[in-house]
Amino acid sequence: MEKARKIRCDCGKFFAEKMVKVGSITTKALVCPGCGHITFTKEQAMEYGRLKEIREMIGGERKIIKIGNSIGITLPEKLGLKPGRKVRTEVIDSKSFKVIFG
Ligand SMILES: [Zn+2]
Repeated sequence: MEKARKIRCDCGKFFAEKMVKVGSITTKALVCPGCGHITFTKEQAMEYGRLKEIREMIGGERKIIKIGNSIGITLPEKLGLKPGRKVRTEVIDSKSFKVIFG
């Protein structure tokens, strides 16, 4: 977490870090409580860029494949995950779950 810095918006209010939805990506950004202007710190911009890369790599439709007596989905190697690495899964609702690899 970077140190909190006070950055003033053109409208005079100070930006506050918040989660914002940019397109289909939810990420941290600086939001002006006065006019709603959104901007990114360098670190937030890099994180947003990384999220866009990940979305392009694994977003969308995938086919379920059979692996022995189990089923699975494949992920591209360029995601940077290696076989044997542990990930966690969490149920979101009856039709979705998330995979946590960070
Ligand atoms: Zn403002």
